[in-house]
Amino acid sequence: MNDNRLESFVHQGIETLRKDDPQLYGLLDREHERQTTVLTMVAASSVVDPSVLICESMTPMNVTAEGYPQARFHAGCVVIDEIEQLAIDRAKAAFGAQYANVQAHSATTANQIVMCSMMKAGDTLLGMELSSGGHLTHGSKASVSGQYFNAIGYGLHPSGSIDYEQVQRLAHEHKPKLLICGTTSYPRVIDFKRFREIADEVGAYVLADITHISGLVVAGEHPSPINHAHFTTTCTHKQIYGPRAGLIMMGKDFDRPAPDGKMTLAEKLQKAVFPFFQGAPHLHTIAAMARALGMVARPEFKKLAKRIVDDGRALAQCFLERGYRVITGGTDNHLVVIDVLQKGLTGIIAERALEDCHIVVNKNRIPGDQKSPTITSGIRIGTNSLARREMGPGEMATCADLVHRVLAAIKAIDESHYKLDETVRNAVRADVKKLCSRFPIPCYPV
Ligand SMILES: *Cc1c(COP(=O)(O)O)cnc(C)c1O
Repeated sequence: MNDNRLESFVHQGIETLRKDDPQLYGLLDREHERQTTVLTMVAASSVVDPSVLICESMTPMNVTAEGYPQARFHAGCVVIDEIEQLAIDRAKAAFGAQYANVQAHSATTANQIVMCSMMKAGDTLLGMELSSGGHLTHGSKASVSGQYFNAIGYGLHPSGSIDYEQVQRLAHEHKPKLLICGTTSYPRVIDFKRFREIADEVGAYVLADITHISGLVVAGEHPSPINHAHFTTTCTHKQIYGPRAGLIMMGKDFDRPAPDGKMTLAEKLQKAVFPFFQGAPHLHTIAAMARALGMVARPEFKKLAKRIVDDGRALAQCFLERGYRVITGGTDNHLVVIDVLQKGLTGIIAERALEDCHIVVNKNRIPGDQKSPTITSGIRIGTNSLARREMGPGEMATCADLVHRVLAAIKAIDESHYKLDETVRNAVRADVKKLCSRFPIPCYPV
């Protein structure tokens, strides 16, 4: 191994970009600076280690490698095969899975691949409604999942917890082929065992999309669906702190016969990723995934996962103490969903005003929301990035105060317009800057 070869390669790349394309270099530099100086509390965000980022810029990108390790349609894949196998082995080890496919380009694609391998157009699926926190790919009419399949949706109790009785009732009524669980904004523990029991009653397969909680699952901070669900999907860019890509895994059911009886579920899935759905895999991304999956399997990540959850609890408590209605009264994971309508605001106004003050959160619908998805009555906050910056429960009071100072100062004009006092804005911006410099993103020079 030549110790300096890769380093000088990377250095040369960045030098060339800086000299030859200052416009693009400038934009990338500005984005880097924004991320380091802004308080990102977006639940779907994370902070990726530079060693993961650098894998994405490596030469496996130059290789076309349709197929799988030891079974490629192209030559020149000797090393590539080892990289992909490493990612597969690390995924299986991290999640305790029997089967892992690391080629899906995103979690959206991962879900579509599972759906299209287990169902034909027009078949019925049962997933959580978008308005209750289900993902677009769980049967929304705005996505392929809701247009090509007969999608039935379940929802939440008014309290905000999953209505398992409704799931069971709808499953018996509609006999879905696929039952989908996993959400984008559910702050409580998901009972994967219950979903499997319901699916078994009606002969459905279970797809658990754990995109939002996959890091907690690896670290044992949330029960694992791997052996309850037939298929588990996740992206690797939210809680795995890795590249933008998807992962599909299977547990104890991997070698059960698929519906047509000719293949096992794992064999069927393998063919569904390639050639049915995708072409050549992104090997540079798979290298980054291998790196990220290696990191989440370490003891340090267990500490981070614990901090994510502790921060979530503390943050929810801080908002309750400041008089906000927190959906479900708290959280078991990194997600804190807050009703802002009750404060005379909408989600979009809160989101915009906070961004104006250098705090980034997302507008989000809340149970029973009467506002449209582009307006909403709530905001969704997450602790992935805060915990990664090593902010602990003690700093959550500071974060909640910053958010509260902005929300309390907003004068809503209508559903999407507002006025914000200049002095509040400048004061919050200054305090955000101070907080971010006290808790820099580890290994991210400003
Ligand atoms: C973010 C998210 C996805 C989509 O992930 P992409 O990789 O961006 O396509 C899928 N499912 C859930 C539950 C998500 O939160």
